[in-house]
Amino acid sequence: MALLVTSNTQLRNSLAGLGDNVALVPTMGALHEGHVALIELARKTVGKAGCVVVSDFINPTQFNDDEDFKNYPKDVKEDFLIATAAGANILWVPSRDDIYPSEDMNMVKAGFLGEILEGSDRPGHFDGVATVVNRLFELVVPKYAIFGQKDLQQILVIKELIKTNKIPISLIVGPTVRESDGLALSSRNSRLDSHQRELAKKIPVALAQGYDAAVSGARVVDIRQQVREALEHPEIKIHYVELLDDKLETVTNNHGWLLVSVTIGNTRLIDNSFIPLGNLNC
Ligand code: AMP
Repeated sequence: MALLVTSNTQLRNSLAGLGDNVALVPTMGALHEGHVALIELARKTVGKAGCVVVSDFINPTQFNDDEDFKNYPKDVKEDFLIATAAGANILWVPSRDDIYPSEDMNMVKAGFLGEILEGSDRPGHFDGVATVVNRLFELVVPKYAIFGQKDLQQILVIKELIKTNKIPISLIVGPTVRESDGLALSSRNSRLDSHQRELAKKIPVALAQGYDAAVSGARVVDIRQQVREALEHPEIKIHYVELLDDKLETVTNNHGWLLVSVTIGNTRLIDNSFIPLGNLNC
């Protein structure tokens, strides 16, 4: 059984004497199989004797939309059962004051990596992400931090945060866990009605088409166009389809990331795929 920790003092006391073999899995709760895979990866990383902390905090500073924040699914009891079954030692559910002790706390700036793609439609989102993750790191002081590939831009922002501030934490990335039809698991999927859920299938199909086009030597511009066409539907709003490198810049190397963001109904969904580019044709 994991320990349910709800304050910073309790967290400090629970971690005291455990040593430094600690892995942190930051989440906003509403845990699903994607989170479970990350918790299992954390356990594998620290071994039986290590400590796996799962944070469960819906971070207000990364939401631009009040409704989105208010409607974000929350079920701590269920999260506790899931985190326990997945092998976590601690489910940490901090209060807002634990994370933001003063109103005028300095926000960490995510910079260029946080200003494009998701960041251009959601200004300040990645500053919120960088700020909360930095704070989680300060409070837990983990040796490892585990994140999912599904949120690729988030990973790049956090990599930069770690590098710039020389934080002694190893970032470990877990692969995206998908439904049987390919849709990436997300806490937000529960907001899709059955018709919207059906439409959402187009996302993995489009990414797969982009992948196939890339391996058969298509030009970047044509890959993006094919993905857009595969997503085309009056009820799908496409925010972007981009093929970029690890720095979120134009691909010049032999691989890239195909990144997609759409809104179906009121639900914004993102996904991405690693793309090998044999002989790059820009
Ligand atoms: P969230 O609770 O949505 O903020 O996500 C917490 C962590 O779970 C982040 O590192 C996400 O990238 C990761 N995650 C979310 N969905 C998935 C998924 N389908 N597969 C793997 N990791 C995921």
